[in-house]
Amino acid sequence: MPRSPMIARTVPALRRAIDSLRLRKATIALVPTMGALHDGHVSLVRAAKRRATRVIVSIFVNPTQFAPTEDFGSYPRTWKADVAKLAAENVDMIWHPAVEAVYPQGFATRIVPEGPAVVGLEDRFRPHFFGGVATVVGKLFTQCRPDIAIFGEKDFQQLRVVMQMARDLDLGVKVIGSPTVRERDGLAMSSRNVYLSAEERQVAPTLYRTMKECARRIRAGEDTEAAMAGGAEIIRAAGFTLDYFEVRNAETLGPIASTKDGPLRILVAAKLGNTRLIDNIAV
Ligand code: AMP
Repeated sequence: MPRSPMIARTVPALRRAIDSLRLRKATIALVPTMGALHDGHVSLVRAAKRRATRVIVSIFVNPTQFAPTEDFGSYPRTWKADVAKLAAENVDMIWHPAVEAVYPQGFATRIVPEGPAVVGLEDRFRPHFFGGVATVVGKLFTQCRPDIAIFGEKDFQQLRVVMQMARDLDLGVKVIGSPTVRERDGLAMSSRNVYLSAEERQVAPTLYRTMKECARRIRAGEDTEAAMAGGAEIIRAAGFTLDYFEVRNAETLGPIASTKDGPLRILVAAKLGNTRLIDNIAV
């Protein structure tokens, strides 16, 4: 029988629990999530277990990374199923604060990331997003004081922003990226995939298929612009409204002048009906 993880809901309770873990010389890994856990999240937990003796998973739907028009209110919340999944993975602790515990009355500080946070990808379409992410991740790191933190490559720009922030602010946390887990047909797992209608779900793997084909053509030496323009056309023709479909330098996320400016990453964001999907792959 899996043991239920300890659940902390307030900062003092979290601190007490972490102090007791620390006394036993644990190395602590943190896996930040917004809940509605799927196998992608579970893969991060397993990566954390391989690298640390104790694993904390945070479940917090962070209001400051949602614009007023976005889905904060309707974001899927599946607390009981999440706890069962984390218990089955033998997670040590769940950090599940209320919004007021993270942003108490009078809260007035914000981390404003630059560098990979201002390269004209997600930031162009969700200008509020990385400020919200950096602020909450900064808080999660200082609350949990982990040795390492695992983030998914699924949110590739976010991974780069968090790595940069941890380095720039000397947060003392090693940020590690973990590969994207996909459905059998290639669709990247996401808590938001439940928003897709049956018809949209059939179309959704087009993103991954098209990125793979473009990566193949670029590796084969074909003209990058032509390959990407062809890919964008396929994605639009499948019924998506495209926000961006770009090849960037995988480290800086800056634009490239030629394929010699690698390592390269293809990144995409597109809406299918009301659902916005993002994905990326290495070239
Ligand atoms: P979220 O709960 O969607 O905010 O994601 C929490 C963490 O899980 C982030 O580091 C994501 O990048 C990661 N993640 C989400 N989907 C996947 C996936 N399909 N494969 C691997 N990691 C993922």
